[in-house]
Amino acid sequence: MSKSKSPESVKVVVRCRPMNEKERAAGFERVVSLDVKLGQIMVKNPREASANEPPKVFTFDSVYDWNSKQIDLYDETFRPLVDSVLLGFNGTIFAYGQTGTGKTYTMEGVRKDPERRGVIPNSFEHIFTHISRSQNQQYLVSASYLEIYQEEIRDLLSKDQSRRLELRERPDVGVHVRDLSSFVTKSVREIENVMNIGNQNRSVGATNMNEHSSRSHAIFVITVECSEMGVDEENHIRVGKLNLVDLAGSERQSKTGAQGERLKEATKINLSLSALGNVISALVDGRSSHIPYRDSKLTRLLQDSLGGNARTVMVANIGPASYNVEETLTTLRYANRAKNIKNKPRINEDPKDAMLRTFQEEILRLKEQLKKRGGKKKRRKQRRRRADGEDQEEGETDDDDDEDKGEYWKEQQEKLERERRAIVEDHSLVAEEKARLLKEKEKKMEDLRREKEAGEMLAAKVKDMESRLLVGGKNIVDHTNEQQRVLEQKRQEIAEQKRREREMRQQMENRDEETLELKETYSSLQQEVDIKTKKLKKLFSKLQAVKGEIEDVQEQHISERQEHEQIQDELTRELKLKQLILENFIPQDEKNKIKTRMFFDEEEESWKMKPITRLEEDHQMMSRPQSAGGYRRPLSRDARYKAENVLMLAMDMPTRTTRDYQEPVIDPKTAAALEDALREEKEIQVDASDHSSLGAAFSSGSLKKPKSGRPRTGRKSGTPSPGNPLYPQPRGLVPK
Ligand code: ADP
Ligand code: MG
Repeated sequence: MSKSKSPESVKVVVRCRPMNEKERAAGFERVVSLDVKLGQIMVKNPREASANEPPKVFTFDSVYDWNSKQIDLYDETFRPLVDSVLLGFNGTIFAYGQTGTGKTYTMEGVRKDPERRGVIPNSFEHIFTHISRSQNQQYLVSASYLEIYQEEIRDLLSKDQSRRLELRERPDVGVHVRDLSSFVTKSVREIENVMNIGNQNRSVGATNMNEHSSRSHAIFVITVECSEMGVDEENHIRVGKLNLVDLAGSERQSKTGAQGERLKEATKINLSLSALGNVISALVDGRSSHIPYRDSKLTRLLQDSLGGNARTVMVANIGPASYNVEETLTTLRYANRAKNIKNKPRINEDPKDAMLRTFQEEILRLKEQLKKRGGKKKRRKQRRRRADGEDQEEGETDDDDDEDKGEYWKEQQEKLERERRAIVEDHSLVAEEKARLLKEKEKKMEDLRREKEAGEMLAAKVKDMESRLLVGGKNIVDHTNEQQRVLEQKRQEIAEQKRREREMRQQMENRDEETLELKETYSSLQQEVDIKTKKLKKLFSKLQAVKGEIEDVQEQHISERQEHEQIQDELTRELKLKQLILENFIPQDEKNKIKTRMFFDEEEESWKMKPITRLEEDHQMMSRPQSAGGYRRPLSRDARYKAENVLMLAMDMPTRTTRDYQEPVIDPKTAAALEDALREEKEIQVDASDHSSLGAAFSSGSLKKPKSGRPRTGRKSGTPSPGNPLYPQPRGLVPK
C-alpha cells in the first residue's frame, strides 16, 4: 500500500544569529565565520594559546549567517519538506541549540511582522495556499500543540492545563499521545488562533517563563489529510503529519550538588534531550542494534523522524560570540552526527485512523437521513403537483430544495391550522369529542414543529461538516494574483538553483582532493617535490585538525564522565540512606509485604502498590479494619521510635474462607410443590385438633394469631390469602 523510497539522510542546516546588543557592548570577539555558498562553517579558538591553531571546519547541507532572511530559509530548506507533507509524507523540523541562539525565532519568529515570521506561520500560509489551488481533492487540516517538561506531557490546547497526558502504543497507529486534543481548521486565521491559544497556555503555570521555555520541548503538529479519486475509481486518502519542534536549550544543566527531590528533578530536566543524543549516536554508529527510543517521551514520540519513515530537517542554532564557543562547538558536533541518520520516507496511504474518512462517512450518513426525510415530502409534493395539473420543472438545485422545504412546512402548518379551526367551528360535535380532536391536532402540530427543527439541525450539521472539508476553488479560494504567483515561482526557482550550486561546489571540493592524489606523473623531480610538498602540507593540516578534534572530544568526554560519576555518587548516597532506614525501621515481614505488592506500571513509568485483596465477583476493594482508638500501630522494634512509624502500610487482609449467607435459589416447580406440601401440613394440623369447631372460629378470624410460627424458609412468602388465615397452633410441652 505504501510507496517505499530509497533511504535519504536527515537534512541538517546551521543558522548563526547576529551579535546582540549586550555582546556588542561588551566587545566580544566573533569566532564564527560562514561560507554560505559552500555550506561551510569555521570556528576559531579564542584562546591565546591556540592562536595558531587552524579553525575548525564543518560542512552542512546549508548554512545561514546573521543576514539570512526567514523567507530564504523557508524557500530553500523548509518548503520542500512541507511540500512532501502535502503529498502524504510525515515531516519533522527540529530546532536545536543553546538557549538564546534563535530556536524560537526560527520556528515562530516575530508574529506581527510578515518579514520575520518563522517556519510555523509560513507553513500555514503555504499549506492553505496549496489547498486553494488544488483540483478535485478534498482536504482536512487539523492542529495539535503539546509540551514536554520534566518528562510530563501537557496538552497546550486543552482547557484543563493541570492534566498530564500519556503516551500509548498501538500496532495500527504507532506511538501517540492519548486524549491529545486536535482542532480542525479551515483557514490560516483559524490555525493561527490555535497556535496563539497554545502559546498563551505555554506560559500558564510557569513560575519563570524564561527558565520554563528553555527547559521544555514544544511540539506543534499539523495533520494534512487529502482525499482524491485514484485510477481504480476509488477514493484514496493520504495523510501527512508535520511536527514542528522547538527543543529545550542544549546547554548542559548542572545536576551535581542537588539532592533528593531536586536531584530527581534535575536528572529529568533534559532527559529527553540527552536521550535524543543517544538515539542519534546509536543510529549513526551502525554497530548497535538497539536504538534507545524508549528512554524518553520525546524520542518515543518522534521515533518516525529519526531513522524512521519521515523526512527530517534539523536546524542547529548557534551564537557568534567568543564566550559561547564551547557550546557552539558542541552543537556543531551534535549536528554533524545527525547528518548521517538515514530515513526511509514513505507516503501514508489509507491509514486506519484517517479523520477525513470518518468525516466523509458521517456526512454521507447524515445526508442519507436528510434524504429519507425529504423523500417522503417530495413524493407527497409531486402527487400534489400532478393533481394540480401544473407542470413545474423537476430538476432542482439545493437552493430550490430549501425553498421547497420551507414552502412544504408552511403548507403543512396551514393545513393543520385550517383543520383545527374547522373542528372549533363544528357545532355538531359533542364537547368531549371536540376537545379530544383538538388535542390530537395540537399534538400533530407539535410533532410537525419538532420534525422541522430536527431536519434543520441535521442540515446545519451537514453544512458545518462539509465546510471543514476544504476543496480548492470552492470553499477555499486563492487570493494571490498572477504577479504574486510568478514572483513566488521565481523565488522557489532561485532557491532550487542555490541549492544545486552548493551541492556542486561541495562535490568539486571533494573531487579536488581526490585528483590531487591521482596526479602521479611528473615532468621533473622538482615538480614532483613541489606537488608532494603541497600534498604533504595539506594532509598535515588535515591531520592536525583531526588530532585537535580528537582531543576536544576526549576532553568533552572526560568532563561528561566526571559529571556522571558525581551524579552516580550522589545517587549511591541516596540509596544507602534509604537502605539504612529500611533496615532499621521496617520489620522484615513489612518489607516482604511491600516486595510482593509493588509492581512497575510500564505505561505510567512509576512504581505502584497492588490493591490489598479483591473479592472475586464484584472486584471491590475490601474496607480495611479500623485500628483501635485512632492509635497508630507501632512497627519499629526500637522502643524510641515506636510512636513514630516510618512506614504505615495498610494491613493485609487474610484470605477469606467464609461467605455471606445467600438464599438458595429454588426452581419454581419445587417452590410450588413445597408451598403445596406446607399448606397441606397446616391443614393436617388444623384437622388433627379435636376441636373441630375451632376450624370455624379460625376462619372467621376471631382468634389471635399465635406469636411463633414455623421457621421461615427464607423465601419471601406472598401475602397470605385473606380468605384463609390459618396458622398452626403451638402445642407446648407434649408429655411422653
Ligand atoms: P531560543 O529560542 O533559542 O532560546 P530565541 O529565538 O528566543 O532563542 O532568540 C533570542 C533572541 O535573539 C531573540 O530576541 C531573537 O529575536 C533574537 N534572534 C535570534 N535569531 C535571530 C536572527 N537570525 N536574526 C535576528 N534576531 C535573532
Ligand atoms: Mg526559545
